[in-house]
Amino acid sequence: MATILLEVATPDKGEVCKKDINMLIVRSICGELGILPKHARLLTELIPHAMRIKEGGSEVQLFVSGGFMEVTPDKITILADAAEVPDDIDVERAKAAYQRASDRLAKKDADIDTNRAEAALARAKARLLVKGVHMG
Ligand code: ATP
Repeated sequence: MATILLEVATPDKGEVCKKDINMLIVRSICGELGILPKHARLLTELIPHAMRIKEGGSEVQLFVSGGFMEVTPDKITILADAAEVPDDIDVERAKAAYQRASDRLAKKDADIDTNRAEAALARAKARLLVKGVHMG
């Protein structure tokens, strides 16, 4: 089966993932994209979500917060604000972040930075999804 190299890096951790994969399914600001080997060149911005990586007949997930993705026919490069493989996700921390963001949004206070709280909620939800934890 044809493969394409996937590289994911963050400012905090450097390289988070570097491997040959069969397909990547990501969510960009323009919607969901499926990237196969020999894909056309592309540069786009990603939203916080659980990326789906297909490799050798199985599928794994990788959390990615916002960032940029560059695709060439043989390589996908993602520079993310934050990214974690499932084993590195702290569920209790993500649950606490989810609760904080939910409480802030529920108050509907004028002082609340709604966009910031919604972004924090989206990151927490995506991290929990990667761990198979569904909230609310
Ligand atoms: P928190 O409010 O818990 O810090 P956050 O969504 O604001 O969550 P980020 O700004 O996305 O955190 O990430 C900051 C750093 O902390 C990154 O290096 C990220 O990988 C790490 N990180 C954040 N949440 C978790 C988590 N639940 N498990 C493991 N690492 C995490």
